[in-house]
Order: sequence, then structure tokens, then C-alpha cells
Amino acid sequence: MEQVLATVLQRDPEQQEFHQAVTEFLETVKPVLDRHPEYRNFAVLERLVEPERMIMFRVPWMDDRGRVHVNRGYRVEMNSAIGPYKGGLRFHPSVNLSVIKFLAFEQVFKNALTTLSLGGGKGGADFDPRDRSDTEVMRFCQSFMSELFRHIGEDTDVPAGDIGVSGREIGFLFGMYKKLQNKFTGVLTGKGVSWGGSLIRPEATGYGVVYFASEMLTLIGQTMECKHCLISGSGNVAQYTAEKVLQLGGRVLTMSDSSGYIFDEEGIDIAKLEHLKELKNVERGRIEKYCQRYPHAEYVPVDPDLDYNPLWQHEADCAFPAATQNEINAKDAQHLVEVGVKLVCEGANMPCVPEAISLFAENDVLFGPAKAANAGGVAVSGLEMAQDAMRLSWTRDEVDTRLRSIMEKIHQTCVDAAAYYGHPGDYLAGANIAGFVKVGNAMLDQGVV
Ligand code: NDP
Repeated sequence: MEQVLATVLQRDPEQQEFHQAVTEFLETVKPVLDRHPEYRNFAVLERLVEPERMIMFRVPWMDDRGRVHVNRGYRVEMNSAIGPYKGGLRFHPSVNLSVIKFLAFEQVFKNALTTLSLGGGKGGADFDPRDRSDTEVMRFCQSFMSELFRHIGEDTDVPAGDIGVSGREIGFLFGMYKKLQNKFTGVLTGKGVSWGGSLIRPEATGYGVVYFASEMLTLIGQTMECKHCLISGSGNVAQYTAEKVLQLGGRVLTMSDSSGYIFDEEGIDIAKLEHLKELKNVERGRIEKYCQRYPHAEYVPVDPDLDYNPLWQHEADCAFPAATQNEINAKDAQHLVEVGVKLVCEGANMPCVPEAISLFAENDVLFGPAKAANAGGVAVSGLEMAQDAMRLSWTRDEVDTRLRSIMEKIHQTCVDAAAYYGHPGDYLAGANIAGFVKVGNAMLDQGVV
């Protein structure tokens, strides 16, 4: 394992996020390697940490004033041992190869946990859709797809949304793919419901996170009822995490965006959440505006001089980081422990740094890792692919029931794998081990390719 990590560090010394994801993974799968030398003999780890294919490309586009911009596009096709590459596209200025590789690596094991036949990949661009007009976003998406189309397909690689890519962007990307290929296929998920999308797909990641958290609570004889919850982010995952917490009787105290956070002591109820959705999804405004409608709520802007986020200092029972990677550092984790949080469930990918995760373990805080807890999104994407292939649409209830059942199975798989390999109650170890065994066995079956 040390050799594998050393090779990764030596090969791409600057890819910090990727190193972080690989290190966390390797630390937890050691018991499997000790019992099963065949993974070593056939270099399964060495092959897992090297993407099957990486595509990088120029994305030129023209803004509304006629100025030409050039962004960089990525698609990392990480592993196809158990199905076509599957994973979202992220449009955000912080996107680089390290971020996309870490996300693609995580996606491989997450997808394996969903019980569906999905390989892992991820892509995106360092494009910032914020403050761009719809026509600018459309031109960017069309340029991006004019290169990506030759690498994807319903049986090859099926991208979806992620940060900065939601229904609007998926629509523009799909339109361009269809024009270039002259084919109407389920090549992207997260599509509009009237043209191949699945009901519950927008809700799936957030709902799934709360279903997973509820399963964790059930094991200790509790429910979401009356739980006070801190949520970060106000995008797709955060909004539907909040919605499901409310449906299950919990109370939502905070939400945020990259400029700051709101704290509503009376609770963000369904009506307030609907207003916030309108604000973020339709007006594409800043979360600060929530306080214009609800002046009793407090807005706290990001303070660049602070090395912690005060959002995590409010008294609560549960925390759902749902914005971005590494948003909970060791200090934030210490604050969460001090205010009495008993459960942290990751909505975003890798939002907790390794020191934070260790602190949770030392203080008996239940920790739901992203690759298990937020797998509901890709699971319903898998269900969207199934519906597209059959040219059928399932009802809302049907998809939601399947989602809930998948999240229950993922939870049980993590619990069982962790216990079997000597880490009872460690969801991170359970998720990594179960994902690794499924993908690793498929790689062994398929030979050295
Ligand atoms: P959205 O773009 O819909 O929302 C992202 C939210 O996080 C926004 O509120 C955004 O603020 C905030 N944010 C983004 N970057 C930063 C940053 N650097 N610092 C502080 N806040 C930030 O994305 P999603 O909700 O889709 O994704 C959120 C997380 O969930 C990501 O980690 C993603 O990988 C993960 N995820 C998403 C899935 C999905 O189905 N969408 C599936 C599984 C995981 P602002 O509005 O200011 O930009």
C-alpha cells in the first residue's frame, strides 16, 4: 500500500485532492488485502488509482459582448469494471485535474455501492456559470459538448450534473449531443422529465442523504423527528436534504452559499425553503437575500480571516455538509463536537478533512461518508438510464421507493462489511471495503486489462 501511494505521489505530486482521497481509501482497505493476496498479485490497487482514460480539451466560447474566452474541459474515465463510466460534470473556477480525479476515484466505489451496474467517471470545466446569462451558459455548454460528444455514449460513459451543472446545463449539453450524433439516447442523466428524465432525480441526492442518516439513527434507537440540523450549501443537494429533514419532522437551522450563511433560529420551514429555492434556482441570487423576506434570520458573511466556519458553531444534533470538498476542517469538527452534534452525514463529496473524521470517531459522533450517504443521486441516475433504455417512466412513488430501498441496502452493506473486517460501526471503512471488493473482484474476473 505504501508503494501504491508513493507511486501516486511521485507521478502527480501536485494533485492534493486526489492524494487525500487515495490515502483515506488505502488506510481502510488494508484488512481486505491482508486476507486476500490475489488483489496484490494482480495489482488491483495499482490499476484502481490510475484512470483508464483522461480527456482534456479546450473550450472556447463567446460572451454576450463578443469577447472570446477559453476554458479547460475534463473527463476522467476512471474505472469501467462493473459498468459504463458514470459521474457528474462540475463547472466551477476551482476545477482542475486533481479535483476531477478525486471525484472520479470516489465515484467508482460509490457507484459500486448502489447495487447497479455503473462504472465511475467525472468531468467538468474551470468555467464559472455565476453571473453568466442563459445564452452565455448555452454557448459554453455547446462548445464543451462539441468535444466531449466523441467520448461518451449510453453504453460507454454517461455524465450527469454536479456543482454548477443542473437542469439548465444538462438541457443545453443534451441538445448539442443529440444534434452532433443525430441520436436521441440516454447519454446524460438529470434530463427534463418530458424528454427522458426521471422523476425524483433532482431530489435524489439530498433525499438519499437523509434516508441514510435515518438508517444510522435507527441503529441507535432514534429518528429524525425534532432533530436540530445544520446544513451547508444551498444548491441541489442542500435544498433536498433540507426538504427531507423537514418531511421527517426535523428542524433546519442553517444554509449557506459561497458568500456566507443564514441562521434562522425559528427554523427554515417548507414555505421558507420554497422561497430560498426560488431565490437560488430562478433568480440565481445570493442567500443573503433570504433575510430581506425573513428579517429575524441572521446573515453571516464569509470572513476570510477566520480559519473556521462559524456555521458549525450553532447548537444542533445533526450536521449535513452539502456544499463542497474540505469545508469542515479540524477546528470546525471540534466545534461540532462541542455544540453536541451526534451525527455528521456528508452530502457533498469529501467535505470533511481526515483530521475531522478522526475527531468524530474519538468523540463517538456517527459519521456517514459521502460515497455511501450521497449515492442516492447516482442511484436514481442509474434508474433514469433503465427507464430510458425501456422508453418508460416510473411514477414519483415508484422511484422514491426504489431510492429508499437502495439507501437502506447501502447502509446495511456498510454495516456488514465494517463488522466482517473488524471495524464495527465504522461506516467509512465499511463503504470503502464493500466498494473495493465489488470492483476488485470484477477486475480479477476480467483479467489484466
Ligand atoms: P450546486 O452547484 O447545486 O450547489 C453548490 C452549493 O455549494 C452552492 O450553495 C454553492 O454556493 C456552494 N459552494 C460551492 N463551492 C463552494 C465553495 N468553494 N465554498 C463555499 N460554498 C461553495 O451543487 P450540488 O448541490 O449539486 O453539489 C454540492 C456537493 O454535493 C458537491 O460536493 C457535489 O460533488 C456533491 N454531490 C452532488 C450530487 C448531485 O446529484 N448534484 C451527487 C453527489 C454528490 P454558490 O451558490 O455561492 O456557488
